[in-house]
Amino acid sequence: MNTPPVCNYEGSDYQTSFWDKGGRAYEDRTEAVALKRLLPPKGRLLLELGAGAGRNTPRYIGFDRIVLLDYSRTQLEQAQQRLGKSEKYYFVAADAYRLPFVDGLFDGATMIRVLHHMADAPKALGQVRNVMRPGGTFILEFANKLNLKAIFRYWLGRQTWSPFTLEPVEFARLNFDFHPRAIRNWLNELDFSIEKTLTLSRFRVGWLKRIVPTGILVFFDSLFQWTGALWQWTPSVFVRARRGKLNIHGEETYPRVTSLVAFFKCPDCGFLPLEDRKTYLECYSCGKKWEVKDGIYDFREPLK
Ligand SMILES: [Zn+2]
Repeated sequence: MNTPPVCNYEGSDYQTSFWDKGGRAYEDRTEAVALKRLLPPKGRLLLELGAGAGRNTPRYIGFDRIVLLDYSRTQLEQAQQRLGKSEKYYFVAADAYRLPFVDGLFDGATMIRVLHHMADAPKALGQVRNVMRPGGTFILEFANKLNLKAIFRYWLGRQTWSPFTLEPVEFARLNFDFHPRAIRNWLNELDFSIEKTLTLSRFRVGWLKRIVPTGILVFFDSLFQWTGALWQWTPSVFVRARRGKLNIHGEETYPRVTSLVAFFKCPDCGFLPLEDRKTYLECYSCGKKWEVKDGIYDFREPLK
């Protein structure tokens, strides 16, 4: 199956180098504030796309169960260690372009700092839509090409790409910034309605972060996040969108899910249900076998 290239964090120390020791406390805390403002108070089953090492997972407290999905198995292993053994969490290694879930499964989904690595953003967003229940809440973060720094650099002739045009900009391999209107257009086309927009990280400036205490920067960032409803000029934007009431077939779907195995469909041929063989799940239609090992369901490549 042809899908766009994936930005793979396999074997990466991203959690340690970028978050724990990378001076990102300000960004992390502003995200916590935004999530508190956007998350529904209660939910049944949340899909966390690009969960990584589970940095944000404990913040989804209102949800009964959470599926952590990441392309990198080692990131999920770090998340398992961080979160500990719990019935509440499921771990799935899979490609966001070919999600291995039955339609209409989740009443919540989050995708934070993930679209940033998507060469085909509408395709990934369409996959999210399919696995969401009508009326479900989707919280999406994207990197904004229309940020003040990019605008000034463009005006000063220090940047060739225009922040004002709708196409994404790939400023480094598999690193994309998006125009807020392009994101809105894609979501609308997929029958998501946007309920709230917050702008974040307006003080993501090295010297500012060094001289001003993080708590103060977080406080002022929180104070202005709501202006995202009016304009979006910050490097990071959060939106809360609600999936349309009807599915693609024009009816409401609520899959009957009695066990974890019933969550899944074959990511290659779409067949369901998969047969539980303990160490793998088997697709009766195309014969592929998907590994289950140490609590991680792996749908990236079938077993040989
Ligand atoms: Zn199959």
